[in-house]
Parts: sequence; C-alpha cells; structure tokens
Amino acid sequence: MSMKPRILIVEDEPGIADTLQYALRTDGFDPAWVATGEEALTQLRAQPPALVILDVGLPDASGFEVFKRLREFADVPVVFLTARSDEIDRVVGLELGADDYVAKPFSPRELVARVRSILRRAAKTAAAAPAAATTPIAIDDGRRQIRFYGHLLELSRYEYGLLKTLASRPGHVFSRDTLLERVWDDPGESLDRTVDAHVKTLRAKMKAVAPLLDPIRTHRGTGYALAEDLPAKL
Ligand code: CA
Repeated sequence: MSMKPRILIVEDEPGIADTLQYALRTDGFDPAWVATGEEALTQLRAQPPALVILDVGLPDASGFEVFKRLREFADVPVVFLTARSDEIDRVVGLELGADDYVAKPFSPRELVARVRSILRRAAKTAAAAPAAATTPIAIDDGRRQIRFYGHLLELSRYEYGLLKTLASRPGHVFSRDTLLERVWDDPGESLDRTVDAHVKTLRAKMKAVAPLLDPIRTHRGTGYALAEDLPAKL
C-alpha cells in the first residue's frame, strides 16, 4: 500500500489536471482526478484524501458549493483554484475557512509547494492539539470558526458571537440585554426577539451535529446559558 499522501484534484480542464497530476506525482504525492463536483463528493465520502485541490468553476456546481457540502462531513484541507479576481474576493470575503487559494494561471511547482506546506501545518496542528477532539466546543477566534464535537459549524457572525459568549462561561445565564450588548454592533437598534431568532438558528445548526443534546438552555424570563453537562464525546 502506498504511503504517499493522496491529493484529490477537482478540475474540469483536462490540461490543467494533467499538469497538476504530473507535478504532484513527481513531488512524491499520489494524485487522483475528478472533473465534476458530484464525482468529487462521491470520492471524498468514499476515500477522504490528505488534501483537495478544488476548482471554483466546475460544470455542475461551484467549488464553493462543493466545499460547503464537504465541510458537512470532513475537515480535509482545501486549496481553491480560481480563474477570476471576483472568485478570489469570495474566497477571502466569505471567510470560508479554505486553507489557501491559487489564481490561474499558476505555476504547478508553486502550487505543489503550497500543498506541501499546508500538509506540514496540518500535521503540526494535529500533533499540538491532541485533546481538541474531546472538547465539545472548540473556538478558533483567528478564523472565526467554532467546531462542535469536531464538526465545523457554518455560523453567521451573530450566531458566532452568541455561541462564543455563552461558551465563555458554561452554566452562566446571560440575559438577552447582555447578549445584545456583547454581540451586536448597535444593540439599541435590536430587539430581544432578535436574540431569540438567532439562538433558534444556532440551536438548529448544533442539533444537526448532535440531535439528542440540548446545548443551549433557555431560562424563562432571564436568558440563555450553555449547558455545563455536555458529554466530552458524542
Ligand atoms: Ca473550471
């Protein structure tokens, strides 16, 4: 069995895919290639690679859609291939949590070097944080990301702020006013029910990960608290 890191290339232009496969193979990787988003997701489910190189402009779906669906079940590093500057803006602006992007036309050697450094970084992170998987709620403030039992939650900025605040003191009941003050830029303009609405969508996202848990408790008339008794593992 090959111990070479498997890299999945998702790219509909055969010329680019060939060049990439050649460069990766030469550099000691084990590349595989698919040309559509659908094939990519099938492959990713069946055999998650060490890293995905994902073209934004695919014939059946955008790379962004493929990325979102991938993040529902796997945390594989992703490098986007972008053809236009507005795509780059989206990668950066949406803070998708992709590991990197490369604009076409690109140098295959440079891309392979990026792949290598991302994998090195991923290996370091994995080695440095062995306990991460046992923390129900892991907050990465730099990337504004929260993982719930290892699953990346797709959060709006308010949902992110709410969960981060609640998680800062599990068990503590935060009033709606306090939450408005801490999370919203202009709390005066917002209403208590704004908090309720965002808590509701946040709960739904957490429920998708852990259907049997009730991580955010409502305290009637007072506010919300993060449960203190969440199990360490699902
Ligand atoms: Ca394309």
